[in-house]
Amino acid sequence: MKETLQNLRRQAADLLEKKEVALVIGWEPGSDIARTTPFFAAAPDEASRLTWGPFCANGLVKYLLDYRYGTEKLAVAARGCDMRAVNRLVQDRQFPRERVVVLGLPCAGILDRAKVLPRFTPGAKLLEVADRGDTYLVRTDLDGEKAFPKAEFLEPRCLECEQNVPEGADRLLGPAVASPALPGIDRFGDVAALEALDPAAKSAFWDRYFTRCLRCYACRNICPACNCKECAFEQAVPGWQQDARWISKATTLSENYTFHLIRMFDVAGRCIDCGECERVCPVNIPLRKLYRKVLKDARELFAAPTPGKAPDAVLPMVTFAENDREEFM
Ligand code: SF4
Ligand code: SF4
Ligand code: SF4
Repeated sequence: MKETLQNLRRQAADLLEKKEVALVIGWEPGSDIARTTPFFAAAPDEASRLTWGPFCANGLVKYLLDYRYGTEKLAVAARGCDMRAVNRLVQDRQFPRERVVVLGLPCAGILDRAKVLPRFTPGAKLLEVADRGDTYLVRTDLDGEKAFPKAEFLEPRCLECEQNVPEGADRLLGPAVASPALPGIDRFGDVAALEALDPAAKSAFWDRYFTRCLRCYACRNICPACNCKECAFEQAVPGWQQDARWISKATTLSENYTFHLIRMFDVAGRCIDCGECERVCPVNIPLRKLYRKVLKDARELFAAPTPGKAPDAVLPMVTFAENDREEFM
């Protein structure tokens, strides 16, 4: 991990020094190493502020869209799942591949802060984290060192990770590391369990979650597949009375369903299963279950791999084959 971080800083400084890129998008530590935030290094001497480790939770690729109308080249730090996000933007013609240098980070899994932080004395400062294979060791000023077995403390998406090394990165910054995915995990077991419920129980399940949605749109804003220049939910409907919207601002259950189901159809066959939407939701709605239902269907109906694995992969929902299964027609 330390070697990879040194490489990240070196490569970032080099790219900025040679003016090959205008910015390097990465993470920097906050008040301690568990509170990382996105960081935009614009000069070689800022590269030393970059960090990398199991608390670098934010996906950074969506920030590229803030520069989509420019001509400058940018570099972005990317884990395996972030590489699928890069491919998503490239395939959707939202950001040209030649304008981004992908700094690839082999990833051993991201710690779930919500599970880890309560294990420390309030106010303890996290100083260092070391990877010991199945476990991360975290050292603090007040509590000494504590062990966090990955199987228990990683974010759920990491325990199902299907690509922890970013294939196709321009520069791979460290040696391959073991995938944190649990051996033999059934990636769609929870979706199958939901499918098995009767319609009333399924409705009750989603009613319970969607009723608490604040419509803060954090899930949409972070999503690499939600990359329209203007979101339909903020567009006035042409021809209707002034300022009429497709959905009202009210966070009623029916309006929330409309938002989530429209978004689900929008990302169908394009969702890269990065889990960012679920990670940022302030009210813990299990959004991946919704999108992985479509992922599962696309796998079963069209043998489609997880989108984003290659920038030129065929998208199942925009391709017709005479032997397509048609049970849904
Ligand atoms: S899903 Fe995989 S690549 Fe992405 S953060 Fe988790 S372990 Fe890393
Ligand atoms: S992030 Fe959560 S609360 Fe916010 S709009 Fe999405 S589902 Fe609703
Ligand atoms: S997992 Fe969520 S954030 Fe990631 S691409 Fe799919 S819908 Fe978007």
